[in-house]
Amino acid sequence: MSLSRREMMMQGAAVAALATGKPFSAFAETPAKTQEQRIKWQNWSGGQSCLPEARLAPATAAEVAEIIATSTKPIRPVGTGHSFTALVPTDGTIMSLDRLSGVLETNDETMEATVGAGSKLGDLGAPLEEKGQALINMPDINRQTLAGSISTSTHGTGENFGSLSSYVTGLELVSAAGETIWCDKDQQPDLFQAARVSLGSLGIITKIRLQNRTPHRINKRTWVVPFDEMMEQADTFAAENRNFEFYYIPFSSMCMGISHNETDEPLAPSSAEDDDGVMTLKALADYLGWAPSLREYFIRSALEDLPEETFVDTSWKVYPSDRNVRFNEMEYHLPRENALAALKEIRTLVEGENIDLFFPWEFRYVKSDDIWLSPFQGRESCSIAIHRYYEEDYKPLFSAVEPILQKHGGRPHWGKLHTLKAPDFATLYPNWNDFLTVRQAMDPDGVFLNDHLREVFGLA
Ligand SMILES: Cc1cc2nc3c(=O)[nH]c(=O)nc-3n(C[C@H](O)[C@H](O)[C@H](O)COP(=O)(O)OP(=O)(O)OC[C@H]3O[C@@H](n4cnc5c(N)ncnc54)[C@H](O)[C@@H]3O)c2cc1C
Repeated sequence: MSLSRREMMMQGAAVAALATGKPFSAFAETPAKTQEQRIKWQNWSGGQSCLPEARLAPATAAEVAEIIATSTKPIRPVGTGHSFTALVPTDGTIMSLDRLSGVLETNDETMEATVGAGSKLGDLGAPLEEKGQALINMPDINRQTLAGSISTSTHGTGENFGSLSSYVTGLELVSAAGETIWCDKDQQPDLFQAARVSLGSLGIITKIRLQNRTPHRINKRTWVVPFDEMMEQADTFAAENRNFEFYYIPFSSMCMGISHNETDEPLAPSSAEDDDGVMTLKALADYLGWAPSLREYFIRSALEDLPEETFVDTSWKVYPSDRNVRFNEMEYHLPRENALAALKEIRTLVEGENIDLFFPWEFRYVKSDDIWLSPFQGRESCSIAIHRYYEEDYKPLFSAVEPILQKHGGRPHWGKLHTLKAPDFATLYPNWNDFLTVRQAMDPDGVFLNDHLREVFGLA
């Protein structure tokens, strides 16, 4: 059996055919009204869906305000549907900001750019580079919108880098009352603290100003490390590299380290490869799940032969990966000092009980920030992500692992599956009540509240 490095790392481009982005009507068109006329919306994994009365894509802030005033409630803003939790589903109106996208303004002195909230991360790289700017850090795919990303505190890795929300220096939103409001650290500071991570509950974000930096070239390196050695070395790797993360491949005792470092080496882009590694791991699980040591032997033999691999390219081309295999995901952000112990415990549980799974687990570093609903607020963090093939029931696995993540003080990723409720969040977030106060003032009638948000905020 031969497995390429890329194959081993659960790559997988977003399954493009999903009905998340299309069809949205231009605002002027009449929304579908009857059940028969409704068009199903579903998220990337297919785990969340709804039959909204209207799916609308306004082109201006004024159209956003008019939709808020006239369209069926609840109104839920949507990005590209890459969240696994039920943030978007509604019987009312789904609003896409697809037509409010692109780089609107740049400031060469402060290295900030104001962009349309519906911009997809992958569509920002080239126009920002033309203006002499680049995003400071990126998550591991680039299909999400900027508004969707900051609304759940989407993050990449690197102990000196916060989530995308932490690079927001100002934003514009249209409130439930139809007002267009700008907020930043000086203007409406409480709203700014709440709106940088808001789960789409305060209003429709139309513009975002981001702190950027100069364009740069990145050297990406991947290499195989035995699990026990990784447990010893991970923090050192994190300190020695601009960005460091690793995957643990369950039932293998082996990890894959990934580093990104700034470089001025010549370009050496990655060569495209087939992307069926996760399915190879699935086949091994299907056929050898009854014999964990044999399965480990096969995976280890494949991994041990893998040479170290590096490539060099412009930052925005290097950070994103493809995700060709669909999955559901749970990810918790833990205080950094607890995270490796939690990972070891999860391994003991899953492998000790021979719980059937094949997706690699992802371990990343994220810098602390001060945003009210940021899972990274007030603490240096590490994130642990566990995946389940989209056709499989994720609940048994996630409910077995979640108590370990909670016991170690984890806060769930807002866009990834979890079972926490308002009382849990009140304990985990020091500014929980501050956020609720701002939410109540911004949307007293619950225009933006669907069932999931009512549960999260304790308003059910
Ligand atoms: C394959 C895959 C890889 C991923 N990789 C990462 C990763 O590396 N790091 C990470 O942290 N997460 C990752 N995620 C999770 C993903 O980044 C988040 O769930 C993100 O929020 C999705 O953005 P989206 O544009 O799809 O927004 P959606 O999922 O459509 O919406 C997310 C939230 O944003 C709100 N929203 C959207 N637009 C607006 C707006 N204009 N105004 C107000 N609110 C709005 C929505 O109402 C919702 O609450 C990944 C998900 C997938 C499926």
